[in-house]
Amino acid sequence: MQMTPYTLPLLAAALISAIVAVLAWQRRPSPGARAFSAAMCLVVLNILVSLFLLSSTTLDSFLFWVKMSFLGGGLGVAWLVFTLRYDGRSLRDVTRIAALAAVEPTVMFVLAWFNDLHHLLWSQAVATPITAPGALLRVDTRLGPLFWVWSAYQYALLLLGVVILLRGLFRVPSAYRGQTVAVLVAMAVPWTANILFLVGRTSVTGVDLTPFAFALSSVALFLALYRFRFLDLSPIPRSLVLEASPNGVLVLDGRGRLVDINPAAEAILGCSARDVLGVEGTQVLPALSSATPGSDAELTFVCDGVERSYDLHVAPLRKRMGNLALLVDVTDRKCMTAHLLQAQKMDALGLMAGGIAHDFNNLLTGILGNLSIMQEEAGQLDSIAEPLAQAEQAARRAAGLAHNLLTFSRNGSPAPTYLNLNQSVDLTLQSIAELVPPSMAIARDYAPGLWNILIDQVQLGQLVINLVVNARDAMNGTGTLTIRTSNVDVDDRFVQAHPEARSGEHVLLQVIDTGNGMTDTVLQHLFEPFFTTKPVGHGTGLGLAVVYGAVQQANGWIIVETTVGKGTTFSTYLPRCREPVQTQTPALQEVYTQRTERHKTVLVVDDEEMILQLTRRMLERSGYTVMTAADGPSAVTVIQENPAAVDLVLLDMTMPGMTGDQVLWELRRLGCTAPILISSGYSLGGSIQDLVGRPGGADGFLPKPYTMQELSEMVRTTLDGIQTN
Ligand code: ADP
Ligand code: MG
Repeated sequence: MQMTPYTLPLLAAALISAIVAVLAWQRRPSPGARAFSAAMCLVVLNILVSLFLLSSTTLDSFLFWVKMSFLGGGLGVAWLVFTLRYDGRSLRDVTRIAALAAVEPTVMFVLAWFNDLHHLLWSQAVATPITAPGALLRVDTRLGPLFWVWSAYQYALLLLGVVILLRGLFRVPSAYRGQTVAVLVAMAVPWTANILFLVGRTSVTGVDLTPFAFALSSVALFLALYRFRFLDLSPIPRSLVLEASPNGVLVLDGRGRLVDINPAAEAILGCSARDVLGVEGTQVLPALSSATPGSDAELTFVCDGVERSYDLHVAPLRKRMGNLALLVDVTDRKCMTAHLLQAQKMDALGLMAGGIAHDFNNLLTGILGNLSIMQEEAGQLDSIAEPLAQAEQAARRAAGLAHNLLTFSRNGSPAPTYLNLNQSVDLTLQSIAELVPPSMAIARDYAPGLWNILIDQVQLGQLVINLVVNARDAMNGTGTLTIRTSNVDVDDRFVQAHPEARSGEHVLLQVIDTGNGMTDTVLQHLFEPFFTTKPVGHGTGLGLAVVYGAVQQANGWIIVETTVGKGTTFSTYLPRCREPVQTQTPALQEVYTQRTERHKTVLVVDDEEMILQLTRRMLERSGYTVMTAADGPSAVTVIQENPAAVDLVLLDMTMPGMTGDQVLWELRRLGCTAPILISSGYSLGGSIQDLVGRPGGADGFLPKPYTMQELSEMVRTTLDGIQTN
């Protein structure tokens, strides 16, 4: 290759362009970066072809490079592809456009090689060697019509790309405009040079300055790449953002007419943009009439058959051009808030109910215990035997009520067993057959192969009874009650719609009635203890509170669906257990032979003076020697002074200062080996259960209230157990 004065500058231009191509390729994850890199490669090719053209010494080699120069026709296509991708068009669309756009340059490239046959691109090529600056050869030609077609096509593609970029310029955030402007400048420089060349000359000879101009462009491109992070950060057109927004967006002009609406708003309002553009905004969304900028309104729409809530925000557009109305979906947030409030309410109620039941049980211990002493004293003395029996009955009912409250507050004493719901429900239904009038049909729809669950059998029985009795009441004794069981695999979508639910395998028990259903107000208070709509004497309002507590303790949840006048479905979900069904424990332990223990000493620890005195009296009647301690420290002192003097400790759980469990561990630390019984107005569960179950912990649990029989039996069996061990 022979040197010309242009050789070095052209090589420099090619090198710089090649660097830009590499830099662009490094940013290839950005949309348009690959096409831009390809365009820069074609620029390098153009420059190199120019170089060879200028250094040609024979007509043949000159014409060879002229033909090669038609490869540069790909530049327009690459540029178009870049602008389209940069503008946010999808790869699929752009590929299709590129394939079409590449047809013309390909045909021209092929035709160039057969120019001798048709002379449509150039004709009459005559070469004269020259030594003038620039080219080594002067070639005179006449350009054919197809050359102009080729040029015009290239320009059309370039122009199209510029239009796309310019349009984007106004759509991208202003922070990105620098990128686009630098790229436009970069492309304008060689373009101007080329136009000057084409205007000045109409032959292929002469020096085209375009390749040199590319060197200048590269400076602009470096600026774009490094200063404005071109091909590194690419803006997503705002129209696309609007399109993808899950919030409904409506744009109103100054006269309140709808001028734009995004797909989300179309879906929410159930209309299509084509039908509503130009229509008064208030006709499409009546709430707009009262909405003012800054004010919020809540609306509900039914989308795909589901009711959803939206907040409507209105904001003015710049220069009073109109308003922007936003519809923000708040359904999930509302649902979560309601669920949270409900959960907090139930927790607070549970805390209160548990506290009341605990204190109640202490009081009832006093009442029932004293009653049992009095009943023994009175013997068959008719005049007071009857009132005493009635008093005991009332106290037992009160104890039942306290027990229900404990279940609701999840302080119940569940003894969960693995069981099959079908069998258990069936057994319960059999046992309450007389509660259901014959006019009421019961349809049993049990799924075969039902999974096992882990739940307290007594609580499950209460659950079924309460649901069935409520259904009976709601149906006034006539209609069909359906009891359905099934296996369900709860998925995440379900959990989203029901915050109380948990995903995974569950067994579902549904109690479906055709009764009168309930209103929203009833639904809100349904599970609260003492909430009832039934007349005095008919309902206690504790049925569903117990159901709630039982289901909670079994780690399940309940969903209620109801329609006023149509009926109600209670769906109880209980987690699946993979353990086999447990065989029932033998009905009752052998009743211990009546044998009164003498000379054994029991230490009773309780902060309630009344309980201390009562328990002392009851134990003394059963033949025990009794010591009492009104708090933890006194109990510890008693044991410290004479560890062997005490045969059994009866320890209250809840005491001020030192609590029952603290006393227990302190006594054990002191080496007390006597059995320790824990007693509490709370049922066995949680921390108490931990104490009783643990080695070195408590030896038994005596729930309050207790009667004399219960107390002496518990003490005796514990002492017996220790002796036989
Ligand atoms: P009670 O039955 O003692 O009133 P519950 O806690 O069992 O108490 O029920 C509370 C209230 O819930 C009932 O008073 C009734 O208004 C409503 N309720 C419960 N179950 C149903 C049902 N299946 N259909 C309609 N209302 C019901
Ligand atoms: Mg009830």
